[in-house]
Amino acid sequence: MEAAPPLFSFGVVADVQYADAEDGYDFSGCQRRYYRQSLTLLRNAVEAWVAERPPLNFVLQLGDSIDGLNARRGESEGALARVLAVLRRLPVPVHHAWGNHELYNFSRARLAASGLSSRPAGAAAGPPAGACHAYHFSPALPFRVVLLDAYELSTLGREPDSPRYRQSLRLLREKNPNDNLNSPAGLQEPQFVEFNGGFGQAQLDWFNEVLKLSDENQEKVIVTGHLPIHPDASDGVSLAWDYQDALSVMHSHQCVVCFLAGHLHLGGYCLDSHGIHHLTLEGVIETPPESNAFGTIYVYKDKMILKGRGRVSDRVMHF
Ligand code: ZN
Repeated sequence: MEAAPPLFSFGVVADVQYADAEDGYDFSGCQRRYYRQSLTLLRNAVEAWVAERPPLNFVLQLGDSIDGLNARRGESEGALARVLAVLRRLPVPVHHAWGNHELYNFSRARLAASGLSSRPAGAAAGPPAGACHAYHFSPALPFRVVLLDAYELSTLGREPDSPRYRQSLRLLREKNPNDNLNSPAGLQEPQFVEFNGGFGQAQLDWFNEVLKLSDENQEKVIVTGHLPIHPDASDGVSLAWDYQDALSVMHSHQCVVCFLAGHLHLGGYCLDSHGIHHLTLEGVIETPPESNAFGTIYVYKDKMILKGRGRVSDRVMHF
């Protein structure tokens, strides 16, 4: 650890996917999923964060806090309540990205009225579309955090008769002719599967304006959302539908230093051609009970230091 104190620090955790269910396996049948134990691992993370001195400024929950299993078992509300009760022990704000698993369990309207609706009262307004879970805030000058909604374009969590549902389904079918829309088999753009989603043009236009202002104010910006947006920090499938557009927006500005995502449980990292660090955090759900998967990020003027626990490695990210 550095001798000088950081400007601010925050906790990161991804893909808790809690369910009060026996262990299972992912779609490939290879990766074990510890549905019940994931809550214990989250509790371990919270305990470590509470003990941090100086205290953290906030925690970032990168999405998929409860598993889609809960919906089929009629346990969505109870599972979410248990996860939120663990997080409530933190004396600092928790910012929640919304992932596909939140949307398997809840409609967007329900999420907006739940404890996962984390837009601070004083936060600057989100995109004009309004229904989007995107906002930004400044934890300490000259830094800004932008939280993006990677499922603004998605069929998940939307009413089948809504225009956005129909638009998303049309786009998905255009790019993915498979019967199973969750299958990337044979696709030219394999990210076009139903378990991924997109930002959409309105949100990206808003994002562009936010970054323009940050450039003018010589800020450094940390961007986050559930889905990775760089192929080298992903497996080539787990990417936002319009990841190239999001990258173009970021690359047309000077201010972005880092993009934090979840969704891909094995994690990933790359430094892109414009010097932006892309960090995809390892998922709690596929972490054995004797290990851990969370981290604390200490932010300095010229770098971020990630102190990882368990499957999450330590990393120094220079700007
Ligand atoms: Zn996900």
